[in-house]
Amino acid sequence: MLTGAGVSTDSGIPDFRGPGGLWARDADAGRDASLEAYLADPEVRRLAWRTRLGSPVWTAKPNAAHKALVELERSGRLRTVLTQNIDGLHQRAGSDPHRVLELHGTLHATVCLDCGATGPMREALKRVADGDPEPPCLRCGGILKSATVSFGQELDGEVLRRARIAVLDCDVLLVAGTSLSVQPAAGLVPLAVRAGAQVIICNAEPTPYDSLAAVVLHEPVGEVLPDLSSVPPSGGGRFSSWGDPSTWS
Ligand code: NAD
Ligand code: ZN
Repeated sequence: MLTGAGVSTDSGIPDFRGPGGLWARDADAGRDASLEAYLADPEVRRLAWRTRLGSPVWTAKPNAAHKALVELERSGRLRTVLTQNIDGLHQRAGSDPHRVLELHGTLHATVCLDCGATGPMREALKRVADGDPEPPCLRCGGILKSATVSFGQELDGEVLRRARIAVLDCDVLLVAGTSLSVQPAAGLVPLAVRAGAQVIICNAEPTPYDSLAAVVLHEPVGEVLPDLSSVPPSGGGRFSSWGDPSTWS
């Protein structure tokens, strides 16, 4: 399974590129999202801390799409969740944390850009709420950031390696709620196809990889994923637990 921000919109967390997304509302919203800007400009960092403090992630609850993936995992048909999301909702819904690979990191932790120390986001946000507009690293006084991958920042090499292995090893790659416009995550789709997997894409809007997919569903993930998880498993063998997706109507 490869998920994106569209899996969490029903939980009240806006995506970036969907019709109600942050970038549709404010074309400049991504401008200050680079690591370079964060390091260079204290105003960017202060705004980032205010945004983190007010993030909808802290009050969001898992929705029907997250829960459907838990069901798929428990019935033995879902091995790994590769997510671009940073909200932690797959794990909160009950997905096995060992089977969730957070390609773009997590908002629930902080990392020091100077000494590399990590810590709970909750602790840093408490300092912001108590009046520190830019809480420094408690170990070295350096610049703290959420443990998420910013524009211009590389993905964690080990996480990406494990994601690629999972994709090379799957029969079916189910893709949901992502515009597939962020690399290298989107490149997992052609990788799966080259390795012989069938790809199913469920996204409200077309993606650049729709032509590679055996099945494309331009429908709400909150309806499609629960429908999929309610299909009873039908035995072993390649594709057999799903039926061959290319024959689906
Ligand atoms: P994106 O915003 O580029 O694309 C989301 C896609 O989901 C859009 O094409 C939209 O049409 C579709 N969509 C939205 N709601 C849907 C629904 N209910 N049913 C079906 N489709 C729906 O998101 P992305 O591809 O994940 O890339 C954005 C980047 O931003 C990621 O790297 C991610 O780290 C980050 N991000 C994360 C969150 C989160 O953690 N929840 C939220 C916003 C952005
Ligand atoms: Zn530090």
